[in-house]
Amino acid sequence: MGRPPRELRPGCHFARLAGPRPAQSTTMAKLYFYYSSMNAGKSTSLLQSSYNYRERGMNTLILAPELDDRYGAGRVKSRIGLEAVATTFARSDDLFQAVSACCAEAPLHCVLVDEAQFLTKDQVFQLGQVTDLLDIPVLAYGLRTDFQGEPFEGSKYLLAWADNLKELKAICHCGSKATMVIRLDANGNAVTEGSQIEIGGNDRYVSMCRRHFKERYYHQGVRADGGLRKTENA
Ligand SMILES: [Zn+2]
Repeated sequence: MGRPPRELRPGCHFARLAGPRPAQSTTMAKLYFYYSSMNAGKSTSLLQSSYNYRERGMNTLILAPELDDRYGAGRVKSRIGLEAVATTFARSDDLFQAVSACCAEAPLHCVLVDEAQFLTKDQVFQLGQVTDLLDIPVLAYGLRTDFQGEPFEGSKYLLAWADNLKELKAICHCGSKATMVIRLDANGNAVTEGSQIEIGGNDRYVSMCRRHFKERYYHQGVRADGGLRKTENA
């Protein structure tokens, strides 16, 4: 093994609540992956789930990748105004060791991961170890694909290894379910090249159905017979 795991920043932020420990569950914990395109309410769902545990006298640990500092490091914030403190982690962190360290401080009943698409393959494996060896449910929330339609590393292995897959639905401007995310520059043109991990800047990320993603991304229309036809660059 490499270097020992460093302290996660800014510490293990989980609610410590007085009162009796909840009865031990008889079912094994599971690794859940809640996936969607953007603006489906992933962070809202995460925060609601954490609240539900804490309301029942249980402790939760919210993890968030440190590269997502849109709302300041160590915060998960939803578009409808809910927010909570999160423990940030780096790509090199061992999440099994991190969760184990938190368990040593107080009983932990659920681990929730925001922006789980940014997990590494190793970290998805480590979250599986949390459910299998520590018997703690893990709820991971993330985007399925990037702006090029490619799977994120974290999402690819969560889709492969999670016990339960649940889709959170976003809506395209046409009213269909939006399964894709497109990246638009300041002029509204689709960005087709660049880093998979880029948060902030002037580009906008918009959820679209596959049909409209293809039209914008490839500058192609869809014929009535289902084939693709070339259109002029907008
Ligand atoms: Zn559409």
